[in-house]
Amino acid sequence: MNAEIISVGTELLLGEILNTDAQFLATQLSELGINVYYQTVVGDNRQRLKNAVKTALERSDIVIASGGLGPTPDDLTKEVIAEEMNKELILDEDSLKRMLKYLQLKNLDTVKCNRKQAMLPKDCTILPNDCGTAPGCIIEENGKIAVMLPGPPHELECMYLNYVKQYLMKKSECIFYSENLKLFGIGESKVAEILYDYMENNENPTVAPYAEAVGVRLRITAKCKTEEEGKKIIEPVKADIMQKVGEYVYTDTGSSLPYTVVHMLIEKNLTISAAESCTGGMFAKMITDISGSSAILNESYITYANKAKTKLLGVKPETLKQFGAVSEQTAFEMAEGLYKKTGADVCVAFTGIAGPDGGTEEKPVGLVFVGVCVKGTTEVKKLQIYGSRDRVRNAACLEVFDIIRKKINN
Ligand code: ATP
Ligand code: MG
Repeated sequence: MNAEIISVGTELLLGEILNTDAQFLATQLSELGINVYYQTVVGDNRQRLKNAVKTALERSDIVIASGGLGPTPDDLTKEVIAEEMNKELILDEDSLKRMLKYLQLKNLDTVKCNRKQAMLPKDCTILPNDCGTAPGCIIEENGKIAVMLPGPPHELECMYLNYVKQYLMKKSECIFYSENLKLFGIGESKVAEILYDYMENNENPTVAPYAEAVGVRLRITAKCKTEEEGKKIIEPVKADIMQKVGEYVYTDTGSSLPYTVVHMLIEKNLTISAAESCTGGMFAKMITDISGSSAILNESYITYANKAKTKLLGVKPETLKQFGAVSEQTAFEMAEGLYKKTGADVCVAFTGIAGPDGGTEEKPVGLVFVGVCVKGTTEVKKLQIYGSRDRVRNAACLEVFDIIRKKINN
């Protein structure tokens, strides 16, 4: 079965609002195994809307329209679709009562409730609006289905999830059930190379990697009748993928890398502390962004200047003089010094050149040394990150989260 989404609203064409309704519907329909072949955006204009509806009904099994169900004269969706499907509009008393009740409950002016909103196509399935006034509806005619939903996103989502989803599930022969693995420390192309066979030859489930802002996401999707069946189809493939690239997988729950690592620390009852130079507190922020982090973080330092590195962490002035602040030796002494000072189970140190200025041939922008001390044993890793100041700092923090994940997993 295939579908077309028609988003109605001049403000969409003018770029005044983003078409989030179409995004929501497209995501939902793909989960139900319904292919969306077309998305159309059309203004509040009778003739152009009529043309769009006519074309959509010719080429698609299901047409889902959003917007234009309101009381004003430019709300035309129901009228136009009903006309194209040869259905007259009749007043639905129940919907009218429901709207009046909703408006009274919200203490809103009942004048706003125009009877027009309760005029619905003959023989349609009425979709109550549990989050607003205008009801939606479904018309079935000559093997075609037209679904009409209100434009305001919370109303559309509420109506879709409460009524339309079940309706479409019954119509669709299958659903798509997906699981996602999130990987760090490996590129999309490398993942594709390792899992080439799956991507080339697998039909059910399908396997597809996506490059994300942080790492790679691997989506495994099964075509199935129920979620349980989907899980069974995915299970052996997921197990084999874990054998092949499992070391890079940090979660299959959709959580972020910092969230995953913070929760690992909480579970293992390990404390953490950071000494940050180039990241300026970003790492500590990423930790404290996560609720519950007070269980693992007692203190953390921003040691930006050389003096601070010596005063707070005991980095030797000779080390700074001989090797420079951005060096393996300084990162090592920062992490060791932090461990002496805080006694945290995991102590991390960052020193690098975030840019855009300050790079040299020997020490280019994006060079970051990170020291990680786990229970008193320190290792330093040299990173070379490319990109803006923000990206350098962000990537350095994430690299450290990943180092910690690997170290405390063993
Ligand atoms: P109302 O009863 O509020 O008039 P309606 O069903 O007639 O609802 P529209 O008038 O088309 O819907 O849109 C109402 C509001 O909903 C818009 O101003 C906009 O904020 C939001 N909206 C409409 N269409 C979309 C869309 N495709 N994506 C995101 N938001 C939308
Ligand atoms: Mg409107």
